[in-house]
Amino acid sequence: MRCDRIWRNARLATLAPDQPGLGIIESGLIAACDRRILYAGPEAEAPAFDAPERTNCEERWITPGLIDCHTHLVYGANRAHEFELRLAGASYEEIARAGGGILSTMAATRAASEAELVESALLRLDALLAEGLTTIEVKSGYGLARDAEMRQLRAARQLAAHRRVEVTTSFLGAHALPPEAGGDKDAYIGLICDKMLPAIAEAGLADAVDAFCESIAFSPAQTALVFEAAGRLGLPVKLHADQFSNLHGAALAARYGALSADHLEYTDEAGAAAMAGAGTVAVLLPGAFYFTRETRKPPVEAFRKHGTRMALATDCNPGSSPLTSLLLAMNFGATLFRLTVEECLAGVTREAARALGRFDSIGTLQAGKFCDLAIWDIERPAELVYGMGFNPLHARVWRGE
Ligand SMILES: [Zn+2]
Repeated sequence: MRCDRIWRNARLATLAPDQPGLGIIESGLIAACDRRILYAGPEAEAPAFDAPERTNCEERWITPGLIDCHTHLVYGANRAHEFELRLAGASYEEIARAGGGILSTMAATRAASEAELVESALLRLDALLAEGLTTIEVKSGYGLARDAEMRQLRAARQLAAHRRVEVTTSFLGAHALPPEAGGDKDAYIGLICDKMLPAIAEAGLADAVDAFCESIAFSPAQTALVFEAAGRLGLPVKLHADQFSNLHGAALAARYGALSADHLEYTDEAGAAAMAGAGTVAVLLPGAFYFTRETRKPPVEAFRKHGTRMALATDCNPGSSPLTSLLLAMNFGATLFRLTVEECLAGVTREAARALGRFDSIGTLQAGKFCDLAIWDIERPAELVYGMGFNPLHARVWRGE
């Protein structure tokens, strides 16, 4: 059988949902044709492939390429100085008075050109790619005005022209209230629904719509208005939910059939059950938990009990999670939230794909999906979760190359 390339003598963690655990195949073979997987299975049962390129993996492990399903990768400047002030004892109010916080990132993002936003985001993207990343979600939310939000989303889309990676984008206009709104959250939500979102949908700049539902951001009622506007435009929704308090954001997200609800430290069992019923993925963000020194953990036991699917992501952002490593996100997920190795690995592959609505095309090693692979110099998959700051990637394959 004709194909473009095969990888043989490999150990596969397929993550196939119909297989137990990681879906392991010892002595596996993957064949790729036209960017997609033609075969992933035991070498002994593989058809005789006629491939111009044949790679002997020498018993290395192959997983699906990693997927970071929640990032704020594109932004202006960083907040290292704020971090420095906080370590020196400055209070939140003192930092806010010195111009810190999310509005400082807004100002720097508004001041940056699209090319500058792309250039700085590429540095962070390269760190993720070096660990086998093949798909990344990038949110807006630092422009907080139509043109600046659109520039941020265009910069995110541009990343895929500079690197071999799939980029999905989420419009997060409802991230924070910009100063020109004069404290009027309802009016700003109206602007998002009536002006910003239709323009962004028309330009094809967003694959999903996200919001931050929290007392310091937007209420459940305001979030629902954004979700309804997204629904009218045929865009799926996601939500930053229950991060600092329980506003029942998880249940709200489930009610709107959200792809995911993210953070979830304060989600209750009813929220976990509602998400399971709606197929809304719980995206856990242990980098933000770690960096903000949060102590309340997401209800992992309730997610397991109700069968809520769990993904893991970096939440890469300048304020609360300056993390550019999915390997470290897995280690944090295991050490801080007590996730198992299987949950961590599924969380950055199969379940992350579901959280992006991309499960039919990526996230597992199965025939018909895109041939996105990470090939690792490890003896067992647990090493990917166990290491801290160690990168055992041997090779990254995106769309069969
Ligand atoms: Zn976030």
